[in-house]
Amino acid sequence: MISVCGTQKKFFFSPTAIDILTKKSYIFPNLNYKRRGAMVFCGRPFENIRIEWDGSIRVCCYIKEPLGNVFQDDIEDIWNSGCAKKIRDSILDQSYKYCDKKFCHIAARTNNVVRGNGIPGDSEIDSDMKKTISSCQPKRFEFAHDHSCNIYCASCRKRISHIPKSTVKKLIEFQEDLIKKDFIRNVEYFNISGAGEPFASKVYLDLMKRINQIEFPKLKIDFLTNGLLLTPRMWKNLEKLHYAVNVINISIDAAAESTYKKVRRGGDFKRLQKNLEHLSQLRTNNKCKGLGFRYVVYSENFHEMVEFVKLGQRFNCDWIYFQLIVKFSAFTDNEYRRLAVHNKNHPAHKDFLKILRDPIFNEKNVFLQNINPFREKSLKS
Ligand code: SF4
Repeated sequence: MISVCGTQKKFFFSPTAIDILTKKSYIFPNLNYKRRGAMVFCGRPFENIRIEWDGSIRVCCYIKEPLGNVFQDDIEDIWNSGCAKKIRDSILDQSYKYCDKKFCHIAARTNNVVRGNGIPGDSEIDSDMKKTISSCQPKRFEFAHDHSCNIYCASCRKRISHIPKSTVKKLIEFQEDLIKKDFIRNVEYFNISGAGEPFASKVYLDLMKRINQIEFPKLKIDFLTNGLLLTPRMWKNLEKLHYAVNVINISIDAAAESTYKKVRRGGDFKRLQKNLEHLSQLRTNNKCKGLGFRYVVYSENFHEMVEFVKLGQRFNCDWIYFQLIVKFSAFTDNEYRRLAVHNKNHPAHKDFLKILRDPIFNEKNVFLQNINPFREKSLKS
């Protein structure tokens, strides 16, 4: 991967901004990703703003270098900065040179594209690009500025962590200013959150309190949560937000209580199940527009992938997503090697491939994302 602005900052990597892929058409409804034949167009650098805990702004979680910092510069200037333009150019020339092709499954699809021709030449993608370039205003804000969480998953961190009170204060002041700006008023989607647990965070809860139908009439909110605190009572407390709730994604990573206990440390599987029943009811009554279950795959839980699909089906969810574990700074190389069952030298790799042969993964609401190449390999073998 090439450095965007010539700096090499160490970065907090979060895997949570994952895409919605409709298998047949290859169109991401909210995120504007298209693929026709060898052509790929990722709309994120043209539409998405991700705010990190330290004020850094990125276009997605897979390009680690920031475009700038909102604690130093105006957010509009950052959005129109030279770094932002360089990244957009790399999508237009199809090089995707700043993207992480190992973990971003959109970028991974660009390995065989024809490069250097500017606009790709596919009429549908052409018109989409032209449309996006001519109106390059952010469409989606991904809030990832508070990593506080009520649990500590084996795939993510080693202990429960909350940000200090002084940082909570600073971030609340920052978002208070941010939501007054015209720049954010026309944004269509808020993603809460791209890091940390929305309902365990004083910062995100404060943000939710500030959203209202008069000031943000067209807003849609996508939640990514572990679901443990999204109780019927919490839902009722958020009444003012109900008009905007779009998609609720729940990260679960297990299908059985024993595995859940191991991988979602500090979580309570029975409590989660109760909340899932309530959320499933909300979905049936169209109180949210989509319900997704998510699963980070590694050595501790890959054996339950099939059961997880069945769990999702039992709760009538719209999407069941799987993704590979990524290497956080919290892991040593040895720890990561032990978890990364997708690595061909891992002792359980063959068992992992065997599980992927199950026809259940053909179901239309199952999305294997960056696991797809492994499934293709396993079906060929
Ligand atoms: S890494 Fe590149 S292709 Fe992937 S989401 Fe980010 S901008 Fe899009």
